[in-house]
Amino acid sequence: MTTIAHWIDGLAHTGAGTRTSPVHDPATGAVTGEVTMATTADVDDAVAAARSAFATWRDTSLTGRSAILFAFRELVNRHADDLAALITAEHGKVLSDARGEVQRGLEVVEFACGIPNLLTGDYSDQVSRDVDSWSFRQPLGVVAGITPFNFPAMVPMWMYPVAIACGNTFVLKPSERDPSVNLRVAELWQEAGLPDGVFNVVQGDKDAVDAICDHPDVAAVSFVGSTPIARSIHARATANGKRVQALGGAKNHAIVLPDADLDFASDHLAAAAFGSAGERCMAISATVAVGSAGDRLVEWVDRKAAAVRVGPGTDPASGMGPVITAAARDRIVDLVDSGARQGARVTTDGRGLVVAGHEDGFFVGPTVLDDVTTEMDVYTEEIFGPVLSVLRADTVDEAIALVNANPYGNGTAVFTNDGGAARHFVRNVDVGMVGINVPVPVPMAWHSFGGWKDSLIGDSKVHGAEGVAFYTRAKAVTARWPSIAAFEAASLDMPTAT
Ligand code: NAD
Repeated sequence: MTTIAHWIDGLAHTGAGTRTSPVHDPATGAVTGEVTMATTADVDDAVAAARSAFATWRDTSLTGRSAILFAFRELVNRHADDLAALITAEHGKVLSDARGEVQRGLEVVEFACGIPNLLTGDYSDQVSRDVDSWSFRQPLGVVAGITPFNFPAMVPMWMYPVAIACGNTFVLKPSERDPSVNLRVAELWQEAGLPDGVFNVVQGDKDAVDAICDHPDVAAVSFVGSTPIARSIHARATANGKRVQALGGAKNHAIVLPDADLDFASDHLAAAAFGSAGERCMAISATVAVGSAGDRLVEWVDRKAAAVRVGPGTDPASGMGPVITAAARDRIVDLVDSGARQGARVTTDGRGLVVAGHEDGFFVGPTVLDDVTTEMDVYTEEIFGPVLSVLRADTVDEAIALVNANPYGNGTAVFTNDGGAARHFVRNVDVGMVGINVPVPVPMAWHSFGGWKDSLIGDSKVHGAEGVAFYTRAKAVTARWPSIAAFEAASLDMPTAT
């Protein structure tokens, strides 16, 4: 059994804490490690290291920072399979999916390699006689990231490449359920030439998070996780004067119109609902079948669900792995039970699935529920498992109203061949990220990622232009270089252009 601890100031750090939490291989149920929970003193150490490193990192040239990002990009690319293996070992997702996660994170690193361009300022010549003005952006200082279990490598990569490229130093508090991959990432940063103290990792739970939110030397907090925790971290850290971006939970709907190709739509729906065992914030967990699409769609989706091969993430034949913990599995099964009790029809049933040779693994099979209504727990709760609920609507507008009545607004998609209907959907749906025949519309790194409503607390999204703006603050300069010949007496009035 391995002990998993922190990375502070360029070194593995055992920390002062005595509290630990077990880390599992979800495919076998075995405890494979124990992660040390950071104390306030450990957070203080990490922030002190980051604060000290900021003094020189902020003055490193743009080309110098960019060169380290390029080197880090090469290392992540070279070690992508090892990183994927670390993810699968503790998260459970299949290796090809874990590799995809690393790839999507790498794209943010590539975006951040262009930091000299991204930080180009504005300049106005001669705003008044012999006066010029310009604005540019400076880093905030020490910034922190608090991240969820479901993308242990990618979600932190939404944050730290941009933050570090902008000249900040970083303290990451990853999920305690799959903590190892970011220690390997820390080693890769060091190998890339990043000065010690610029990237730090503290393991832990609420105690570490509270210490981060209360620390006077932390300038900003980026959070991704469930909505109740997003709200509480946003409240606590903003009350302490910090800049906060907090991405929350989701209930993502796909609308299927009667003209859609149902073979294509159901194939993509099954992938979006059951990929990564439904543990994606952009997973489709509800489908609204419009008009005559309903019964035919359920038949198609059942057929696709039956074809999903469930097994350990390390087996290349597996399409879907286990969920993260036994508690998560039991909660998912309980919610499906409640759906059945409340009148939904279980047309594909993944409860009780046993994977031969992995009897103690945390497996739930793909599950489809038809005739779901908006009052059922299976609809109101974020299940975060491989469960697809099918609801019905008579018209596109009824379907849009159903989606808009949901408190979350992360992702959504429409399946249709009707461009006018798709355009109407895009313009009228109250959701931050929308797909047309694309069920998991995760924006590329140079666009920003984030939802609306309860899926985003605060108003800043991650990466892209919003990420750069979040990790920097603008300074506007007005300058005059007086020549003796041009000198005129100054006026006591408010300066205006002359
Ligand atoms: P979570 O909210 O339980 O945990 C997220 C982080 O907060 C972890 O680092 C955890 O240690 C910490 N934390 C947990 N409880 C805390 C508390 N009481 N006080 C302070 N910190 C606490 O989320 P999770 O279960 O790890 O991840 C799944 C959730 O994340 C889902 O709701 C999913 O939709 C959401 N998510 C959202 C996005 C997005 O982009 N909107 C992306 C990924 C995941």
